[in-house]
Amino acid sequence: MSISVFGHSNPDTDSVAAAISFANLLKAEGQDAVACMQSSAAKLNPESTVVLEKFGLTAPEEITDAAGKQVALVDFSDIGQAPAGITEAEIVAVVDHHKIGDITTNNPILFNAQPVGCTCTVLNEMYKMRGIEIPKDIAGAMLSAILSDTVNFKSPTCTDADKAAVADLKVIAGVDDTDALFMDMLKAKSAVDGVPSKDLLFRDYKDFDMKGNKIGVGQLELATLDQVAAIRDDLYKAMEEVKADGRHSVLLMLTDVVKEGTDLVVVSDDASIIEGAFGAKLDGNSMWIDGMMSRKKQTVPNLQKAFGC
Ligand code: MG
Ligand code: MG
Ligand code: MG
Repeated sequence: MSISVFGHSNPDTDSVAAAISFANLLKAEGQDAVACMQSSAAKLNPESTVVLEKFGLTAPEEITDAAGKQVALVDFSDIGQAPAGITEAEIVAVVDHHKIGDITTNNPILFNAQPVGCTCTVLNEMYKMRGIEIPKDIAGAMLSAILSDTVNFKSPTCTDADKAAVADLKVIAGVDDTDALFMDMLKAKSAVDGVPSKDLLFRDYKDFDMKGNKIGVGQLELATLDQVAAIRDDLYKAMEEVKADGRHSVLLMLTDVVKEGTDLVVVSDDASIIEGAFGAKLDGNSMWIDGMMSRKKQTVPNLQKAFGC
């Protein structure tokens, strides 16, 4: 029976690249393995699509039910992120970089989970230790996955091992400029063309209660603010509509991942509170805040302080 290798549901680039990479490693060791991915509404996400095209790889086979199959998991070990039938599958291996989840097995298995930024960093080490060469196209996908998971080394999850793996893999893949590769991926991920403004506002959006005031905060991660230059007025109108629905303020973080800062667009009953929260002044309806990347760790705590929470 061939081993179905797959990553978590709603697959990201690491789940796709790691499935391809680990299936190849198993095959190189004489096992029968096939790279799979769980189907999602969007199928392959735009970033993964760009990566597979760039390196000439085909998308893994879709798997919807694992019952009765031999399976290897990459980039997860939670039943909740697995396909149907996982409890009736025979799990033969796990390669991961998350906290250990709730899967169990009846037999001893290969289980390699490390506290690094990406599953493909773990896989790179496995290839090296076994003396197996990584094919050029697969190295390109693994390299992309590490850049994606670590946000081009800027995520607090990034380790020296991830940087070392990128240094190995870029040589094998023949990629000179990993920043340019990351930018291409980011542009695909943050494409806004043809998406209605309200959908963009709600793509990554949360409401908060601050001393009885309802405050909405959305975020768009962008390669450059130019990506939204033509739709700023439409975004602002969408924010006004959402604010009119009983909110004190609606903020939209237009985060420039490259410049590492956010242009914060503000619609508010009292913009001076928002300005005070960030020690900045609105220029028109937005203000640039250097270093602001995280809603959870930066934007919301400052707002809560300003509202006296
Ligand atoms: Mg993942
Ligand atoms: Mg990952
Ligand atoms: Mg990820």
